[in-house]
Amino acid sequence: MLNNCKRCLYPNNHALNIIIDDEGICSGCRIHEEKDSIDWNDRWNKLNELVSSFKNISDTNYDCIIPINGSKDSFFIVDTVINKLKMKPLLVHYNSQFNTPEGVNNLAKIRLQFGADLIQKTINPDSVKKITRATFRKFGSIYWHVIAGETVYPVQMAVQLKIPLIIWGAHQGIDQVGMYSHDDYVEMSRKYRKDHDCMGIEAEDLIDEFDNINEQDIAPFKYPSNRDIERVGVRGIYLNNYIRWDSRGQHEDMALRFNYEGRLQTRTFDSFSNSDCYLYSDLHDYIKYIKHGYGKINDHVAREIRLGQMTQEVGLDLIEMYLHKEPEYLSLFLDWIGMTEQGFLFVLDLHRNMNFWKRDMNWKWKFSNPSITVFKDKYDYPFFNKFKKYVNTKHDENDDFKSKFILIGRGYK
Ligand SMILES: [Zn+2]
Repeated sequence: MLNNCKRCLYPNNHALNIIIDDEGICSGCRIHEEKDSIDWNDRWNKLNELVSSFKNISDTNYDCIIPINGSKDSFFIVDTVINKLKMKPLLVHYNSQFNTPEGVNNLAKIRLQFGADLIQKTINPDSVKKITRATFRKFGSIYWHVIAGETVYPVQMAVQLKIPLIIWGAHQGIDQVGMYSHDDYVEMSRKYRKDHDCMGIEAEDLIDEFDNINEQDIAPFKYPSNRDIERVGVRGIYLNNYIRWDSRGQHEDMALRFNYEGRLQTRTFDSFSNSDCYLYSDLHDYIKYIKHGYGKINDHVAREIRLGQMTQEVGLDLIEMYLHKEPEYLSLFLDWIGMTEQGFLFVLDLHRNMNFWKRDMNWKWKFSNPSITVFKDKYDYPFFNKFKKYVNTKHDENDDFKSKFILIGRGYK
């Protein structure tokens, strides 16, 4: 039965398997409660101890790898690792190819402000388009290549360059849905990547004559063998096991200290989380809404309520305001991939979730909103007054062409 958490309003059909308990509270909220009882100083000491054994051991002069892109928690992780943990990381970036000017600028700022080396991978766009056509048609996902690439390229580099430690930001399975406790100290795994990040699809599953996808197209997405991973001793750790995670607070701090740039988003109020990408909080999120009946706005509202920074009333208003918004960049995507709008909508309907969507008298799709149950549990909102509207930082000038995705941008500091 479709239900929602009575505190953070998350629906229980969340793709990462959220569980709602007898009191109507979801596993994400329960795990979040740990954040207020954990001794974070002790955790920080544990982190220092853990990373100390990785300093100065690699022949390559790098202590660890940090996967980054032009937004999310990249600035925060790089700042923490370099300036607080005093490590020498190699920054590794998988190019999503859907870059915004803000994302390009942010990457340039990371390159120039932190004194770290950066390597990037840009896959032949023809392969990316073939793969995206296939994943959209078969699984209703236009974003598989980005998620698969971002989660595998750092592991490939760790194996190839023999740098055993990878440092990630927040583990979604802890911070969003409470699949794991902070006490599990969960680390990166091939299985979690396949089952959850990549929706159960391995690169090999995409080889198909119909889509004209061959071994060469999928090679960049293949996870290294267990033997290679063990030989180097590759481990991926998540900072949210050691640092009390608050994405919004962290983003605001990074905007102030390093001029990290946000970008207004179509389908959520949070302009910082995915400012590097035209599609993530736009068309990709809209497809998620068609398939699952919820979107990024539900993630961001749940996060702010749990942190005590937003009330349910404000959260409900924001969900109503953003959830049903049409994407802004559909035509940009269609132009890039070479598809008509009619063809796109035909495929989209194959993945439409009939639990949420019904045709009206005029044969138009109508969203039948599952009722959201609200009740006051004993939760208060201690930081509610702190809540203010997300604002963009001032943009620097960037003359990269703005009416298409940017494949490689020059970027300015
Ligand atoms: Zn909840």
